[in-house]
Amino acid sequence: MTEPAAAKPAKVGFIGLGIMGAPMATRLVRAGHDVVVFTRTPAKAAPVLLAGARWADAPRIAGQDRHIVISMVTDGPDVQEVLLGDQGAACDATAGTLFIDMSTIAPDMARSIAAQLAAKGHRFIDAPVTGGDIGAQQGALSILVGGAADDVQEARPIFEVLGRRVTHAGPVGAGSTLKACNQILAAVNLLGMCEALALAKRSGLELSQMVDALSVGAGASWSLQNLGPKVVAADFDPGFMVDLLQKDLRIVRQTADACGSPVRGVQLAQELFADNQAHGEGRLGSHVMWKAVERIANES
Ligand code: NAP
Repeated sequence: MTEPAAAKPAKVGFIGLGIMGAPMATRLVRAGHDVVVFTRTPAKAAPVLLAGARWADAPRIAGQDRHIVISMVTDGPDVQEVLLGDQGAACDATAGTLFIDMSTIAPDMARSIAAQLAAKGHRFIDAPVTGGDIGAQQGALSILVGGAADDVQEARPIFEVLGRRVTHAGPVGAGSTLKACNQILAAVNLLGMCEALALAKRSGLELSQMVDALSVGAGASWSLQNLGPKVVAADFDPGFMVDLLQKDLRIVRQTADACGSPVRGVQLAQELFADNQAHGEGRLGSHVMWKAVERIANES
């Protein structure tokens, strides 16, 4: 069995070094943890290796002799592959390794992966995050956790490097369900922001003034405060890509449909993002929804 990871430095395997994973792994290295990394496109590991992480040629190697293995990949099937595939991190992991998935995946998928890992003698918690790339860089994420209380306690020193708030919502899957709730808010607030900007534009208001004035009022949102200025500056770099938010909204729809909860605002957001994807905008930031709203406004 592995020793608890609470004692520093913990031996951490980190898989998936994209927009979120690279700054998160870098923070763990800088906090003094012993970090081994793998990601599909090796060039993306460069900043993390520069900070002092070691490279693994496969997830399997990143899982060897680790207290904790963190995955920050795209979707549930990716987590399944990097943890439980032929070259997955669970292959040679020490019995009792704590696996923490921080990607946004479906709650059912989290429960399935937990059961498969438990059958191999390992532990799993789902810990998706919110706070975006800026939150990842600044260690200011809100971390939404599902799992056994002892496992969550063991992960806290790691979470404290990555986030400002850790919410233990219940058993495995509860973190992913809380994240689905967050994605409803993210999508619908974004929709509201784009429609408000479209009205302001067509009414001759100054857009940056509108964003400033309303960012502190009752209609304020993270979207308006952080993405409103980017729309005004016509800066559509991600941040958080349309393709990823569409993936999350599919998870929201499945989760909501399974318990009969209405998500009409989400359906509207999905339609607008589908228009973005049809116009080749899927890899731009989610605030490019503005262009889809503009296309509708220009047609009418
Ligand atoms: P990203 O930039 O696309 O990074 C994902 C990374 O995982 C990429 O480096 C990718 O490799 C790697 N990967 C994906 N599937 C893999 C596989 N099967 N095997 C090996 N490596 C794999 O995405 P991100 O923005 O960091 O998001 C990561 C997760 O966090 C997603 O679940 C997302 O929904 C969630 N999230 C994102 C944000 C945000 O603001 N970006 C905020 C909160 C949560 P390649 O580079 O080769 O594709």
